[in-house]
Amino acid sequence: MAKMQFKSESKRLLDLMINSIYTHKEIFLREIISNASDAIDKLCFIALTDDTLGMTRADFKIELKADKDARTLTVTDNGIGMDKDDLENNLGTIASSGSYQFKQEMSEKEDAQDDIDIIGQFGVGFYSAFMVAKEITVITKKYGSDTAWKWHSAGADGYEIEECDRDGIGTEIILTIKDNTEDDNYDEFLEQYRLQGLVKRYSDYIRYPIVMEMKKSRVKEDTKDSDKPEYEDYYETETLNSMVPIWQRPKKDVPQEEYDKFYQEKFMAMDKPLKTIVTAVEGVVTYKALLFIPASTPYDYYTKEYKKGLQLYSSGVLITDNCEELVPEHFRFVKGIVDTADLSLNISREMLQHDRHLLTIAQNIEKKVQRELTAMLQNDRETYEKFFKAFGRQLKYGVVSDYGMHKDELQDLLLFYSSTEKKPVTLGEYVGRMKEEQKFIYFATGETAAAIDALPQTELLRSKGFEMLYCTEDVDEFTLQTLMSYKDKRFCSAMNDDLGIENDEQQEEDKKDNTALLTFVKETLGDKVAEVVESKKLVSHPVCLTAKGGISFEMEKYFNAVQPDAGMKAQRVLELNLSHKAVQTMESLIQTDIDKARKYAEVLYSQALLIAGLPLENPSEYTDLVCSLI
Ligand code: ADP
Repeated sequence: MAKMQFKSESKRLLDLMINSIYTHKEIFLREIISNASDAIDKLCFIALTDDTLGMTRADFKIELKADKDARTLTVTDNGIGMDKDDLENNLGTIASSGSYQFKQEMSEKEDAQDDIDIIGQFGVGFYSAFMVAKEITVITKKYGSDTAWKWHSAGADGYEIEECDRDGIGTEIILTIKDNTEDDNYDEFLEQYRLQGLVKRYSDYIRYPIVMEMKKSRVKEDTKDSDKPEYEDYYETETLNSMVPIWQRPKKDVPQEEYDKFYQEKFMAMDKPLKTIVTAVEGVVTYKALLFIPASTPYDYYTKEYKKGLQLYSSGVLITDNCEELVPEHFRFVKGIVDTADLSLNISREMLQHDRHLLTIAQNIEKKVQRELTAMLQNDRETYEKFFKAFGRQLKYGVVSDYGMHKDELQDLLLFYSSTEKKPVTLGEYVGRMKEEQKFIYFATGETAAAIDALPQTELLRSKGFEMLYCTEDVDEFTLQTLMSYKDKRFCSAMNDDLGIENDEQQEEDKKDNTALLTFVKETLGDKVAEVVESKKLVSHPVCLTAKGGISFEMEKYFNAVQPDAGMKAQRVLELNLSHKAVQTMESLIQTDIDKARKYAEVLYSQALLIAGLPLENPSEYTDLVCSLI
């Protein structure tokens, strides 16, 4: 029989497994059992509609059997089974597994220490069995197929597949356990009490019975009353797991560590969830939900690989791994499980989308998540800020999406960095502190808070002591534009030409006519600017640019990045600080050396562009210009 080679990426992982020094080798059992349970889920679902199977939910089970003499541990399930292609695709490579890419990315990072941690965090499925087994045989027959197959591998040099006999549908995984070494005791994986303990520890919530024939000892009946009772061995099949899914247990009975563990295993998370939400609802619809808010952004969160959705069970039978309808787009980070008795079991995927009960559950879940986040924001600010760091961008997208339909629900969950508080604040907090004479909620846009701090446009607001919200993410400004106002206060960009601030009267009085200067600069710059005006907001800087009309500079930058051909351009208004030395010098030069005055105007305009973070139209021309003045 020809030996097949493992796909190269699998081989690497396999090597890692075989030579693993990982101390928790025991997790292999959890992985094998969890695969068995998944396989049963699939057949159990089919059994609902296929009467010829003659199976009901109660018939499904997972069996463990340890044989010390043969050194084998066998895990048998009556799940869906595998055909030849499945064996090749599923056990010849791990690339089919969704977590593969992540596992690979992680294991490419640095050293073996990281590799070892991945095993601990995720388990690596079937392959982890090679941590304890020197040989693995899989005997399996798939639902709908007449042929059974035997897959065998003794490790990294490959595997064989051949036809074989097997009565029913299902899979047997036979592990030939490694011999003990000086450092490692493998015999323990053949001990029934050890196996029992492992099932209890890692697989207790598996919803099908995990049974094992346990060797026990009892007093022989006929020696019961004698002085020297004799003992005899007997065998009894025991169910090792309690089978109560974790989401069916009252929250008070479940230690947080168990939720954490469940979350990490089920959703392949590296870290503990930031928040665990347990709800049991009885009424129009009856369901239990166990929801998790992750503590960090999944690596693929903003890619199309990431699938939102919750696992959906109908009275303990898995309907779908990913029911998208259960979470709204703006809460797509939520992971978890919903179990309801109100769904018809053989509901089709298409019907699911329109199911009235499901819709109600989805609405409840949305409200629940919103309330939980609100409570976190109010009671545990530190955790909320962590959450917002991971998923704040998502909430902002949520505000912008669907023409602002969700803004009322989301606006109070937003945080923006505040210029005066030097930390993230809510819109409510901002408005609560607004000064009496303050008309608008001010915001300023830039790459970083430090960059915005340095913007001349923000000088006036700063000197007046007005708080500004800093927009440092591309979606920020769109978010505020979609909101338009908060508690009847409109948002106003610090870059706007009109900040709604009254001129100081005294300034009005000794106002001199500057038309000549402003006209001169406008004529010099021509179409580059829409207007040249005397600045009301500059204090120590000579010039700045502000945007007129609906388009801001940040939007210009954004659109030019995503749609360079559209030529989106904000209308530029050049503001001059008339009390600044540089501007005054330029003004006096108009009389004495007009060419030089023009050069000054050009240089000042270029500086305004630079400060606004906009590209210079012609950098080398600018350099020449500056050099000619030196
Ligand atoms: P994962 O479970 O993350 O997909 P595994 O390496 O554990 O990765 O398993 C690979 C695949 O092999 C599974 O997705 C499943 O399709 C198949 N498989 C493993 N064990 C069984 C089993 N007992 N019955 C049916 N299919 C199985």
